[in-house]
Amino acid sequence: MTGRIVKGISGFYYVFVAGSGIYECKAKGAFRKQGLKPLVGDQVEIDVLDEAEHLGNVVRILPRKNALIRPAVANVDQALVIFATDSPKPNLNLLDRFLVMMAYQDVPVQICFNKEDLGSRADKQVLKETYELAGYPVHFTQAITGEGREEIRTLLQGKTTTVAGPSGVGKSSLINGLQDHTLMETGAISQKIGRGKHTTRHSELIPIGGDSFIMDTPGFSSMYVPEIEAGGLWECFPEFVPHEPECRFQGCAHIGEPDCGIKEAVARKQIAQSRYDNYKLLYEELVQARKY
Ligand code: GDP
Repeated sequence: MTGRIVKGISGFYYVFVAGSGIYECKAKGAFRKQGLKPLVGDQVEIDVLDEAEHLGNVVRILPRKNALIRPAVANVDQALVIFATDSPKPNLNLLDRFLVMMAYQDVPVQICFNKEDLGSRADKQVLKETYELAGYPVHFTQAITGEGREEIRTLLQGKTTTVAGPSGVGKSSLINGLQDHTLMETGAISQKIGRGKHTTRHSELIPIGGDSFIMDTPGFSSMYVPEIEAGGLWECFPEFVPHEPECRFQGCAHIGEPDCGIKEAVARKQIAQSRYDNYKLLYEELVQARKY
């Protein structure tokens, strides 16, 4: 039968089979000879060894739609990044880094600003404008009251979504509200994995009903984008792309060059100043990283 790897720990793969639950599996297939390593998120074929104990072998990895490097996960449809509208104030440099990493890996992003109740109207307006101008869907939620949760749930339907955000923004509150508790309580998920019992932070897919999965992404604060070429960074800022042909110089870095289409778009407020400032910071960082 086929299922989805929702977790991998020390050589064991936990495979979720809709309607049957989780099987604890080892990788035994021919794919090992090809140097292919199963990833969380992989659709796999398993041979069941013991139905009562839910034990099996992973024998085949089905073709992947994609495989991300960070987080290491296969078959991701989109990312949901959560920041607080306030308390803590959103670190837009961190948010822009995340957006760059996802753009680089071709993963569409939904942006959620939680704690809507704490942000001023003016702050919320700036956040919304900045990121809608950049082409990202922006959502405001209030995890403590459930406000906006249904909108988020709709976004997740039928998709595999990697969820990221710094701590303290209400990510757990929001995710808890989205989980299908009937699925949790029937033991479909928890028995094999023993959720909550161990503290190691591995990437893990959480089935939230139907064909929808979310993945809580650990290690958000150490966002690092070294593999991107500085000269191609602008392509990871979607709102820069239509203005690039307006640059006078081919290969314009959009930093100090005259007649730069990007800088002119910033002056016309078609690109938010904060996005451009973060572009410059990241550009400099990438140039420096290449020197060593
Ligand atoms: P995490 O670290 O991102 O997982 O954040 P938590 O879910 O643990 O929430 C951090 C704190 O923010 C808790 O005290 C929550 O009660 C609070 N919180 C979460 N959502 C909201 C919200 O929408 N509004 C307000 N005012 N507080 C919230």
